[in-house]
Amino acid sequence: MTDYILRVSAADGLVRGFFATTHVLVGEAAKIHKTTPVVTAALGRLLTGGVMMGYTMKSEKDLLTLTIKGDGAVGGLLVTADSKGNVKGYANNPQADVPLKENGKLDVGGVVGGGSLTVVKDLGLKEPYSGQVELVNGEIAMDIAYYFATSEQVPSVVSLGVLVDVDYSVKRAGGFIIQLMPGATDELIDELEKTTNIPNITKLLDEGKTPEDLANITLGNMDFEVLEKLPCRFDCGCSKEKVLRALATLPKKDLQNLAQGGKMEVMCHFCNTAHIFDEHEIGELNVKTD
Ligand code: ZN
Repeated sequence: MTDYILRVSAADGLVRGFFATTHVLVGEAAKIHKTTPVVTAALGRLLTGGVMMGYTMKSEKDLLTLTIKGDGAVGGLLVTADSKGNVKGYANNPQADVPLKENGKLDVGGVVGGGSLTVVKDLGLKEPYSGQVELVNGEIAMDIAYYFATSEQVPSVVSLGVLVDVDYSVKRAGGFIIQLMPGATDELIDELEKTTNIPNITKLLDEGKTPEDLANITLGNMDFEVLEKLPCRFDCGCSKEKVLRALATLPKKDLQNLAQGGKMEVMCHFCNTAHIFDEHEIGELNVKTD
């Protein structure tokens, strides 16, 4: 099964929803970054939220970046998504670990700690849109909901879950974002508040519930329509050419420091690929290698 997102409209367009299954892409992120289970859960939730938020953007070139800075062991997380279901991300300290919570669950809030969530949307305008909020609890879902409410004034229910298996592989991952559009009535708000009372998302995912099931469970009382189904994936999109172009913008002095012994190695944080440039390629940057 591949990962996908459903875009749903309910109550004559006054409610919109995004429902995702992401266990393949979260599994890939965990494999690339060799994350501990609690970091897999933290990064996985941010990737899941990010890929759905990316889908809310309109144009092909739009780019969303979510940055979490926290005083917990993981230090920080960064996720980038486009509007077409491509997402990538990394944790500052993928090997960070904290004890389980008393209820036996992974302590995502504990490994993230207190800090901030910054959302940058590059929508092809002169200045990218940027909003920042303090973390509510570091559990990611509520932090994103708080961002929507305060920075974008869009009341939202956000639910994200990652289930890590005993062998550290990702068993399930997914979630949803449900939002009230301008003009929503009080009755509708009451109706939506009931969706926050649904059983916990990890349990639903563990039962094998699909995005379609999640839409039924949360919006089943309203008339809703699935508008689109979009496949999503972990995709870095980096290449030697792109890295070379980025290097060309660096000050000569920094490049000189990077080039050692006739070669230059640049690591991509997102996919852990080492891009190696030889003397000839470095020469194109007009840098001496000794
Ligand atoms: Zn890469």
